[in-house]
Amino acid sequence: MPGFEWIGAEEKAEVNQVLDQGFIFRYNFDGARNGVWKAQEMESMLCDRMQTKHAHLVSSGTSALCTALTAMGVGAGDEVIIPTFTFVASVEAVVSLGAIPVFADVDDTLCLNADSIESKITSRTKAINVVHMCGGMADMSAIIAVAKKHNLLVLEDACQAIGGSYQGQPLGSIGDAGCFSFDSVKTITCGEGGGIITNNETIYTHAHQYSDHGHDHIGHDRGAEGHPIMGLNYRLSDMNAAMGVAQLRKLDDMIAVQRKNKALLKSVLSQFAEISFRRLPDESGDQAGFLTFMLPTEARTIDINQKLKEAGVDGCFYWYINNWHYIKNWPQIQTMTGAAKLPIHLNDNLPDYTQLDTSASDAIMSRTISMLIKLNWTEAELQQRIEKLKQVFAGA
Ligand SMILES: *Cc1c(COP(=O)(O)O)cnc(C)c1O
Repeated sequence: MPGFEWIGAEEKAEVNQVLDQGFIFRYNFDGARNGVWKAQEMESMLCDRMQTKHAHLVSSGTSALCTALTAMGVGAGDEVIIPTFTFVASVEAVVSLGAIPVFADVDDTLCLNADSIESKITSRTKAINVVHMCGGMADMSAIIAVAKKHNLLVLEDACQAIGGSYQGQPLGSIGDAGCFSFDSVKTITCGEGGGIITNNETIYTHAHQYSDHGHDHIGHDRGAEGHPIMGLNYRLSDMNAAMGVAQLRKLDDMIAVQRKNKALLKSVLSQFAEISFRRLPDESGDQAGFLTFMLPTEARTIDINQKLKEAGVDGCFYWYINNWHYIKNWPQIQTMTGAAKLPIHLNDNLPDYTQLDTSASDAIMSRTISMLIKLNWTEAELQQRIEKLKQVFAGA
């Protein structure tokens, strides 16, 4: 998902516009900025591309999650259902609000399983945080049905799947709100940055206010603005947004290249009977940032992971043992609770996560490897990769 591969003249030109007019703050100071409003420009591009009424930029994907949950009304004591396989920011965002992360299992979509979600619902459940992992998508029909039945809010974390869709709807636009990350390794990058999209007026209003100290952003005079709510500073600068404007223009071309490269590699792996693929509830909406496949057993997956390394097939992730993305490898979850409560005191009422049964998720994740799909692979590099993959899997 690396937009950084395509940083070039377009990004420089956009950033230089901001530097040339000398004003980097995203709000107000209308006279000083000579009509350059890069954050607003990127927000309006996001609305067009994602078919939502509103988009709001913030400083990171993590702050987008914190802001969106807050704007949706999630707060102290509320339970938010999140997947066992995700980026750890899903947990951090919920805990930072004094809310309680409740883990549900993932299935062969690599995303939340609707039955598992339903089994975790209590009277305190407020929202489901669906995370569209590795360029693909969750089974949104099933998840939205559970949410409707139990009157729960749905937040879509599309940080790893920007530009993907489900039944024609852009990922992030289906739930009550959606979040994106524009950090330096995401599909499109602002250096650092994040975004929230929604069709809900109230969520949007609370989101832009909350992420800027509660300012109401009415009028042209910063000093005269009202402060209807408490907030924090999760703002994005116009310089970061300028970069995002150039990157967002390239999104669909990036996805086209990812799809082409992925289709080629997938056709090679399809020749090996032992390999199955991650289930995509809408194949045509895959943004193809990763090629994800499963082996029959954990032992064979460990073996293949090792052989891929030895063969020099870079960009492969065995998430089961990766300490950013899978619950089993997060010691920080255990130090949130119990006697230690280190390094910071967060919430007295968190459950004991050491007792959590993740066997259904383990059964999938222990057999799953994802390969990052790059944009700048040459024909020769792709051919080399194909030869190496054939060697690794033919040596069964
Ligand atoms: C990257 C990522 C985030 C956090 O984004 P940052 O911009 O790095 O804070 C959140 N969720 C998922 C699924 C991610 O991949």
